Amino acid sequence: MTSPDRADAQLHIDLDAIAGNYQDLARIAAPAVCAAAVKADAYGLGAERVVPALAAAGCRQFFVAHLCEGIALRAVVPQADIAVLHGPSPGTEPEFMAHDLIPVLNEPGQVERWSRLAKDNGGLPAILHVDTGMNRLGLSAGEAGALADAPERLDGIALRLVMSHLAIAEEPDHPMNAQQRGRFEALRARLPAAPASLANSSGIFIGPDYRYDMVRPGIALYGGNPTPGQSHPLRDPVRLRARILQLREIDSGESVGYGAAFRASGPCRIATVPVGYADGYLRALSNQGLAYVAGMEVPVVGRVSMDLITIDVTAIPAGAVNVGDFVDLIGGGIALDDAAQRAGTIGYELLTSLGQRYARIYSPAA
Ligand SMILES: *Cc1c(COP(=O)(O)O)cnc(C)c1O
Repeated sequence: MTSPDRADAQLHIDLDAIAGNYQDLARIAAPAVCAAAVKADAYGLGAERVVPALAAAGCRQFFVAHLCEGIALRAVVPQADIAVLHGPSPGTEPEFMAHDLIPVLNEPGQVERWSRLAKDNGGLPAILHVDTGMNRLGLSAGEAGALADAPERLDGIALRLVMSHLAIAEEPDHPMNAQQRGRFEALRARLPAAPASLANSSGIFIGPDYRYDMVRPGIALYGGNPTPGQSHPLRDPVRLRARILQLREIDSGESVGYGAAFRASGPCRIATVPVGYADGYLRALSNQGLAYVAGMEVPVVGRVSMDLITIDVTAIPAGAVNVGDFVDLIGGGIALDDAAQRAGTIGYELLTSLGQRYARIYSPAA
C-alpha cells in the first residue's frame, strides 16, 4: 500500500486540537466535570484514536449511543466510565454488566429491569434520563413523578447522574432553554439526590446555570462552532483535502458533469478532484460547495459524482494551480459549519458521513 502521505484524498485529524478543545471546554465548565460524547465513532473521526487522546487530556466519562459502541470502547479505555445513551433493550442487561457499562435509563421498563438486576448483584450504577421538552428519549414528567412517588423502584441502583437534553441550545436566548431548565429543576427536586447534567456543547455556553455537575460536549470537540453567529471559540481539528487529478480548459457553453448541471458562461479551467458522495461529500454540494486552493476560494461546479467533484479554478492565475496540488474541502480555509450549511445540513451530519476511503492521517501519529 502507498503511504498515506501520497494518497490522493486525505482526512487529517488533529488529535492535539481535539485534546485542546476538551481542555478549554473543561476549563469553561469547571467546577462541573467535562464528559465527552463519542457516539457514532467519535462523530466519524475514529473513536479508537480520538478517545485515548481525550482520556490523555483528562476525560474520564464517555457517552456512546449503542451498546455495541460501548462494548467496542471498553477495549479502548479499560478504566473510564462509559455510558450508553440508548439504555438496555430487554435481555441485554447482562452485557452492560459484563462490560462495565453504565446504562442511561430512559423509560420505566429500563428502570424496572435494571433495578431487578442491580438488586440481584449487590447494586449497579445507572444514569436516569428525564425528558424536559425533546420528547424523544427520557422519562416523561408523569413517569418521573411516578418514580419519585415510588422511589423503591430504584432499589439497587446507584444513581450516578440525573440528566436531560436541550433542544435548542444553539440559540441561547430562546425561551425554551429556560423552560427546559425549569422543568429539570422541578423533576430533580422530587427524585433521589444525584449529580445533574443538562448541557451539550452549546448548552455550556448558555451560562453557568446550565452546567450543573457534568457537561456533555460532542460537536465542539470536533470543530463545530458551539456559538453559531459568533466567532468560533475553539480549534478546528478536521481537514479534508484531495489532489487535483486533472485540469482542463473548456469553452463557453460547454457543460460539466452528470446532468450537464453546470454550463460555462465563458472559457473556464476545471480541476477534477477524487472525492465524491461515496466519501460523504454530499451530493447536495453540487454547484454549491466551495474549495480552497492557492489561497483562493473557488466553487464546486456541476454535480457531485460518486467518486469525483469538479472545481472551477478559472480565477486562479495559470501556473498557480497544477495537477497534483491539494485542494481543501473541509477545514484549512473552508469552515466545517460553512460547508455543512452549503449542503443544507449541519456539521454533525457532514462529519458522521465522512467515508472510509480517505487516508486518515492522525497527528500526532500513533
Ligand atoms: C449527542 C449528545 C450530546 C452531545 O451533543 P453536542 O451537540 O454534539 O455537543 C450530549 N448529550 C446527549 C444526550 C446527546 O445525545
